[in-house]
This record gives sequence, C-alpha cells and structure tokens, in this order.
Amino acid sequence: MKRLPALAALLLLFAGLPAFAQDEAIDVDGPPPQLSGLQAEAALAVSDKQKLTQEIVDSLFSFSELGFQEFETQRYLTEILEDNGFTIERGVSGIPSAWWATWGSGKPVIALGSDVDGIPKSSQMPGVAYRQPMVDGAPGHGEGHNSGQAVNITAALAVKEIMERENLPGTIVLWPGIAEELVATKAWFARDGRYDGVDAVLFTHVDDEMNVSYGQATGTGLVSVEYTFDGVAAHGAGDPWKGKSALDAVELMNIAWNYRREHLHPLQRSHYVIVDGGDQPNVVPSKATVWYFIREMTADNIRENFAKLQRTAEGAAMMTDTTVSRRIVGAAYPRHFNKPIALKMYDNMRAVGMPEWSEDDQAFARAFQEFMEADEITGLRTELEPIAAPLEEPKSGGSDDIGDVSWNVPTVTMRFPSNIEGRTGHHWSSAIAMATPVAHKGATAGAKVLAATMLDLIQDQSLVDDAWKYFREEQTPNETYVPFISDSDEPATEKNIGIMSEYKDRLKEYYYDPSKYDTYLEQLGIDYPQLKDPDAE
Ligand SMILES: [Zn+2]
Repeated sequence: MKRLPALAALLLLFAGLPAFAQDEAIDVDGPPPQLSGLQAEAALAVSDKQKLTQEIVDSLFSFSELGFQEFETQRYLTEILEDNGFTIERGVSGIPSAWWATWGSGKPVIALGSDVDGIPKSSQMPGVAYRQPMVDGAPGHGEGHNSGQAVNITAALAVKEIMERENLPGTIVLWPGIAEELVATKAWFARDGRYDGVDAVLFTHVDDEMNVSYGQATGTGLVSVEYTFDGVAAHGAGDPWKGKSALDAVELMNIAWNYRREHLHPLQRSHYVIVDGGDQPNVVPSKATVWYFIREMTADNIRENFAKLQRTAEGAAMMTDTTVSRRIVGAAYPRHFNKPIALKMYDNMRAVGMPEWSEDDQAFARAFQEFMEADEITGLRTELEPIAAPLEEPKSGGSDDIGDVSWNVPTVTMRFPSNIEGRTGHHWSSAIAMATPVAHKGATAGAKVLAATMLDLIQDQSLVDDAWKYFREEQTPNETYVPFISDSDEPATEKNIGIMSEYKDRLKEYYYDPSKYDTYLEQLGIDYPQLKDPDAE
C-alpha cells in the first residue's frame, strides 16, 4: 500500500484539502503517554526476548515458503509455542500447513494473527542494497510476511508470563495467515467457526511505519476464481477443424474482459494469469484455465463484477463450443477495523515510539532508496504518522482476507516498521530489509505495542465492551456479512506444490541455523550494510 509521506500529508491539510475525516477523539498533540505498571513490565519482557524475535524473523525468511506450503514454518513455530505451553491443532480447516495455538482459560479471548507466506521469484539476499537473489527464480519474502509471527509470539510470551504471575484470566490464541498472497484461507477459518467466542483479533502486518486504522480500510475486497474450459483435442495441422480450442475460449474471455474494463468503475482492480494454456502448439488444447482476481471497494460491487465475469466466461464458451466450469480459489471481504481498539493501540504506539535506528540502518535505507530511484531519499522513519482515520474518499488498492475476520469479530491490523519506504510491493525489493536489524527492531517495537494492547484488553473489560458496542452499533447495522465462499468451497491447498518442490532442496542449503550463527546475516557472510554491489560497474 502506498502512503503519503508526512510532508505531503501536512501540505494537503494546510491546503484546506482534508486528507482524513475529522475526529475529535484523537489527541496526538500532547506529550506521548508512558507505559506503566504491567504494560511497562511487558515491554521489558519483550526487550528481553529480542534474541527470540530475531531468530523467528530470520528463520522464516530463510524458509522462503509460498502459500499453502508453509510446512517448515509450521514445524518451527508450533514447536516454539508447544515448548511454551500452548496447545496446538494442526491442519485446521482442511489446510495441512495451517495451525491454531491456544493457551490460558476464560475471558477475554484474544486472537493474534499474522501472515506467513512468501512471493514467487522474490528470493533476495538480505542486508545488501541491490538486487542479488539467493536462489535465482526461487520464492522469497518479497512482502515481509516472515516478521509478523515474531511480533505475535514475542508479545504473547511476554504477556503470558505476566498473566501467570498475576493470576490474570484470559485466553491467548495464535494463528497464521496461510496463503494470504492467494487470499485463500481466512474466509475459510471464519466459515468454520474458528473465531467463535473470540473477543478481539489483533492482526499484525509489516510496513515501513507504525500505524493502525479504523473504519473502512484503504484497498479492496475480492473474489479469486478459476475458469476451466473443456474442448476437444485435434492435430493442430492435420485436422484442426475437428478441434474445439479451450485456449481460444480463455483468450476470448480475456479480450472481452479487457474491453469491459472501460465501463467498470475506476476504483475496481482486476487481473488474471493463464494457469493452463495447453501443452504444445500442434495439439489443439482440450483444456485451458484462467485465474482471475476481481476486486472492488464494496461487497455488492464485487458481486456485481463477478456476475459480469461469469457471463463473459459463458459467452466465451458459447463462441468456441466448449464448456466452462469455475472454482473459487480465494475471497476477501473489504476490511473494516474496530475504532475503540485502534485508538487504544495508537496510544500504545505513541508510548513505545519508533525504534532507535543505527547509523548503519539509516545508511542502508538511504542506499536502498537511491538504488530504487525513490522520489525522496528519506531513510527510515523516526516519527509516527497520525492515526489512519477513515479516508473521506475511498482509495483503491490491495486486499487482505483479514476482511472476513473483521466482519466476524472486532479486529484491527497493527502495522509495524520492519521495512523501508521506497520498495515495490510483491517484489524482491520488499525482501531486502527483512532479515536485518531494521526488521528485528521493527518487530520488537511492534511486539511492545501488541503486548500493551493485549494487557489493555485483559485488564479493562470496558475496552472489550466498547469494541463490541462499536461492532454491533456502528459497523454492522448497515451491512450484513454474506461470505463469498459457500460451505462446499474447498481450500486450494494444491497451489504452489510444484514451485516449492522445484526449489525446496536448494533453499534448504540456506536455512538459518541459530545454533551456529548469531544472525542470518552472519551465516550468509554479509557485512551489513552492504551498500554497493561489488560486481557492478
Ligand atoms: Zn501482506
């Protein structure tokens, strides 16, 4: 998600063009609040666990696993949690790499989630300010999803220690966003009742800033759907008139959709890849599959565009005398985040503040921004941005299936500062910082905020009550959550098996071994920060 730099946001405000809705509830002018009592103790406990935080960040980075294939990640994280007294369920919702970890008893039930999957072809050496794949063509953490579970686990263990000592009631649940890049599991978790009885979901996601939002989030929701056409094979040269090409149907469908775009609302986003376009040119393709993401700002508009896509597919089948079937691969509701929890969390962000970056961290960030030809060479952020209040004008962009969770239980997404501004999303440049001190410090700051917010929920029943009051009286009266998936839609757990089996052995050579090396950078022999490519002219 692209954000306005601080200066640009200020200029907009001064120009009399309010970028954000007015909100009298937000006071950010006074001196920052201080953490005290158990929250201050939790922050100290988080600091004491920095080594664990770093090991989790670095380990997940080194596993480089794609969606639905996060098995090393599952093994590693559930082992840590099991060793710390959590009860683990594996394979939840029929998803082999998924898991659910629970500790404690009674109310409140606080569920911490964060995504764990990587991005195809984004393998990248960390700590160097230029392009250098670890394994050429392999997946990597070109989104930064290797860091969120480190935040959650560190915070959970710190809070658990305090709860045990103080005899505080409450249940901590940890869960992974499996295959978030395919937006393909959280709606299934919600459908299967995984959030029943949960009082609040605190979700965490990497960013280059520390922030939280409430109300409708920037970005879209979506339906992810595959259309498979069935035709008749024939010799491409000998008797092509006997063939009915499924690939022709895919191409005609895509052409029709690309014409249609002009008459869709400008905030929609839609894109496709051809998953199967046939086998070889001299065989008329009897099967072909195209995979679409249909994104819009509201659930109604997503449904409307999905219906248009469906008719387009049927039209393409008719034109080619093929038949068509469809399969839902993923779904994400437009996100709506909880205001009372967001305001409380933002207070904790002000109390914790941004990490203290070293000169090396800043030199690394600036060199990276220069390499990326960023608009501004700003280095790493040192100040908080204002809380992300709802935008007056909806803004399009990506989706996250945390949206489905946010319509089942009061939810916020905490963004923590483990990455560098100026990167491109879903790209190797988003991996470059993700196993460096930038990622480690950002995760530690995030864990302090998360732990403090968990303790707010545990110690203050009125916050839980306010969160549900907002959910019931302000969020849900005007909109009913009707999931995009049905009871019969199955998770697409076969996705990425092929890519992972192609690369796993080579990636294994790079798995981080914390018993031998203090950090992953040390294991890789990288003298951080490496600002210039020694092989470049
Ligand atoms: Zn993400």
